[in-house]
Amino acid sequence: MANPLRPAILAASRSPRVKSAITHAPGTRSLVTRFVAGESRADALAATRALLDSGRSVSLDHLGEDTTDITQAKVVVAEYRSLLGDLGALAEAGEAGARRLEVSVKLSALGQALPRDGDKIALDHARELCEAAQSAGVWVSVDAEDHTTTDSTLSIVSALRADFPWVGAVLQAYLRRTESDCRDLAGPDSRIRLCKGAYRESASVAFQSTAEVDDSYRRCLTILFGGDGYPMVASHDPAMIDAAGAEARRTGRGPDRYEHQMLFGIRDVEQQRLADAGTRMRVYVPYGAQWYGYFMRRLAERPANLTFFLRSLATR
Ligand code: FAD
Repeated sequence: MANPLRPAILAASRSPRVKSAITHAPGTRSLVTRFVAGESRADALAATRALLDSGRSVSLDHLGEDTTDITQAKVVVAEYRSLLGDLGALAEAGEAGARRLEVSVKLSALGQALPRDGDKIALDHARELCEAAQSAGVWVSVDAEDHTTTDSTLSIVSALRADFPWVGAVLQAYLRRTESDCRDLAGPDSRIRLCKGAYRESASVAFQSTAEVDDSYRRCLTILFGGDGYPMVASHDPAMIDAAGAEARRTGRGPDRYEHQMLFGIRDVEQQRLADAGTRMRVYVPYGAQWYGYFMRRLAERPANLTFFLRSLATR
C-alpha cells in the first residue's frame, strides 16, 4: 500500500534466515522499543498507567501468533489471565474507569491453527479469557489476521458474543469482503474495530492500491457509523480520522458513541490531541518477547521505518 516494498518485506519476513538476521542485528532493539512497550508484563503495565494518566484508554496485546502446539497456547492463556488479574486490580484501585482497559487477542496464538480441532481449542481458550475479563471489568477484542482465518475468526467472535456481547471484532478495509461484513456486524452494541489491514494479501481477495483501500475504508465507516454498533476507528491516517469526524456529525453520534484507536509509539502527539479534544482515544499496547511478526508489519507499513532501520545497521 503506502510502501511499494511492503509485499516484498512481508514475504521476506517469513524466511527463517531473515528472521534470524533481523532478530540478531545490532540496530533492531532500539527500533523495536519504539513500537513495543517492553518484554515483560511490568513494562506493559507501566506504559498503561502513563497512557491512562494522559487521558487515553488502552488495549493490551501479549505478542505472539501462529502457535503450533497446545502447550504454547496454554502458556499464552496463562499470561493473559495474569494480565487480566493485574488490569482488574488497576480498575479496582480506581486507576481506570469502566472499559478504559481492554485486551486484544490473536486467535492464532490461542491455538486456531492447530491441525486437530484448532477452531474449538481457540474458542474454548477465548471463552476462558472472556470470563476472566468479565470479572475484571475489562473488554476483549479479537484481532484480525490473514484472510484465510477470517471466516473462522468471525464465527468464533459470533459464538463468544452469545455470552459476552461486548466482545469486539476487527475488520480490515483492504479485504473485498469487508463492506459486506460491516453490514452484517453493524447491529446493536456491536463493537467493530476498522483498520486498513496489515498482512500480505493477493488481488483476488484484497484491494491493492492505496486509493482503493482508502475508498473501502470510507465506505465501511459510513456503514458502521450509520448502524447501531460502536465503531472503533483504528487508523493513523489524517484523512480517515477526518472522515470519521464527518460521519459522527452526519449521523449525530456524540463522542461517547465511537472511539479512535492508534498503535503504541505511532503519532503520539496526534493521539494526545484527540484525547484532549474530548474524543475517546485508545492505544494498542503490544508487549512480550515474540515481537518479530508485529515489528515486521510496522517496518513494512512505512518506507521511513525501513530506511531508519537500515541506516542504524550501516552506522554500527
Ligand atoms: P496508513 O496510510 O498506513 O498510515 C497513515 C499515517 O500513519 C502514515 O503516513 C504515518 O504517518 C502513520 N503510520 C502508519 N503506520 C506507521 C508505522 N508503522 N510507523 C510509523 N508511522 C506510521 N491490522 C490487522 O491486519 N489486524 C488487526 O487486528 C489490526 N489491529 C490494529 C489495531 C489498531 C489499534 C491499529 C491502529 C491498527 C491495527 N492494525 C491491524 C494495523 C492496520 O491494519 C494498519 O496496518 C496500520 O494501522 C497502518 O494503517 P493506517 O490506517 O494507520 O494508514
